[in-house]
Amino acid sequence: MSDNRPYKRVLLKISGQSFCRPGETGIHMDEITTMCQQIKRVVDQGVQLAIVCGGGNILRGKEFAAVSAAIKTPTAHYMGMLGTVINGLALQDALENAGVETRLQTAIQMERVAEPFIRRRCIRHLEKGRVVVLAAGTGSPFVTTDTAAALRAREIEADVLLKATKVDGIYSEDPEKNPHAVRYSEISYQDFLRQNLKVMDATAIHHCMEHNIPIVVFNYKKLGNVERAVAGERVGTRVLAAANIDKS
Ligand code: UDP
Repeated sequence: MSDNRPYKRVLLKISGQSFCRPGETGIHMDEITTMCQQIKRVVDQGVQLAIVCGGGNILRGKEFAAVSAAIKTPTAHYMGMLGTVINGLALQDALENAGVETRLQTAIQMERVAEPFIRRRCIRHLEKGRVVVLAAGTGSPFVTTDTAAALRAREIEADVLLKATKVDGIYSEDPEKNPHAVRYSEISYQDFLRQNLKVMDATAIHHCMEHNIPIVVFNYKKLGNVERAVAGERVGTRVLAAANIDKS
């Protein structure tokens, strides 16, 4: 790996929608395979990569609890976390099939299926060149996998948190609702919070802000974007400390 790479250890957050076809739910292996090809190219360059899986393609706790009177909200969140494990298992096998060595670690113990998340063990795997797939979020209800990604990025001392989405970055408004919405190339943590932007949850932004972890929100659907984001190229939107915003 060349030494001028800005990021040596990367936390990639893959949302649940990356596991299914646009507008659908469930799992579609073609979508995962395409993502795996991008991931393999990054790993082959020697970048250490941990991946936090979302679960929105299967179930989001808040939404499910709202329409299911019999289901208590924490139960719905646990169901959501288990959905991320289903995605994690699919991603693990797809990566291994592409020739990438992996480990799956979960925040909820299930020893027949995966290792428990143990910070030091996770780092050891990364140092050995294995991709560590992290599932079951934080293991606690009421938060999202964005927050899990921010916490894990901090724990494993990642240089950057990459959030793979289906949009080209962060916009002033939802670009699907307002075609005149402006895309930011960079935005400070504070401005993101002030504008109450929805691409990522505020708890995750707070964690990254407190520990100065840069975030890159980018469109993973454009082939090569994962590599570009890892290489520090201008792709999507970067969320940074105000002092690090490029004024040029
Ligand atoms: N979840 C949770 N605790 C966590 C992470 C996730 O309870 O630490 C639940 C929550 O209900 C969430 C669901 O798991 O809606 C799926 O995760 P998320 O919505 O973040 O998936 P994404 O939107 O990234 O696909």
